Amino acid sequence: RLAGRGLVHRFGTTTALAGVDVDLADGESLAVMGPSGSGKSTLLHVLAGIIVPSGGTVTLRGEPVQALSEKKRSLLRRTRYGFVFQFGQLLSELSALENVALPAMLTGASRSDAQAAAGQWLAALGLAGAEGRRPGELSGGQAQRVAVARALITRPEVVFADEPTGALDQQTGHDVMKVLVDSTRAVGSSLVVVTHDADVAAWCDRRIDMRDGLVVPPGSTTGEGVGPRPGEKPGRALPDD
Ligand code: ATP
Ligand code: MG
Repeated sequence: RLAGRGLVHRFGTTTALAGVDVDLADGESLAVMGPSGSGKSTLLHVLAGIIVPSGGTVTLRGEPVQALSEKKRSLLRRTRYGFVFQFGQLLSELSALENVALPAMLTGASRSDAQAAAGQWLAALGLAGAEGRRPGELSGGQAQRVAVARALITRPEVVFADEPTGALDQQTGHDVMKVLVDSTRAVGSSLVVVTHDADVAAWCDRRIDMRDGLVVPPGSTTGEGVGPRPGEKPGRALPDD
């Protein structure tokens, strides 16, 4: 299980996290919601060991993550975590199949085993026939499904996803998110997903809402818990700070 205690993070004079406690049980999915600038991405990066927080601790199965060297944290991320970010995460010179196979090869699988597993993942996510295409030859939704396959092929302990659908139209976004939540659950990985979409949060086991770097009571950032109106993405109307 993954736990954050008293997490504080400052960027210069900006306090992005002001004291957050969060727990993620094995196999649990957690949605992180809240307006733009509330600290969601920072929390995700801290939990994933990408950012060392200014204060507080993150532990994975009781092991303090920030005590590890950057090299060991990088190894931890590669071997035990999976990531789905918004853009630019697929290698543009590699085919869809090679993109998905790569993390498996980096964690010890042979090329042929990795490519066989990658082919199965792509088929399972509705991408049979697209194995040989490069990211630039895929639609946004297809590219995101390739990214989901790539994040899951190593059967990571935790998958971290930051608004993977922010750039897609709503229906495509929904479809990708459903695939992300369902496949993560099927693999047995935990999931931390930053989302502005209340439907996505509802598919997860649990949800936290953030405001000004703190976890606040459910619904208090999206209008008394009713979530966004159809077609509306809270926080998106505001420019980033
Ligand atoms: P969004 O929904 O727009 O993605 P968010 O909830 O993910 O917002 P964060 O990216 O975590 O918000 O940012 C929290 C605060 O920290 C904001 O005030 C932001 O401007 C600031 N911040 C984030 N990253 C940096 C950085 N690298 N340098 C300086 N300030 C940063
Ligand atoms: Mg963000």
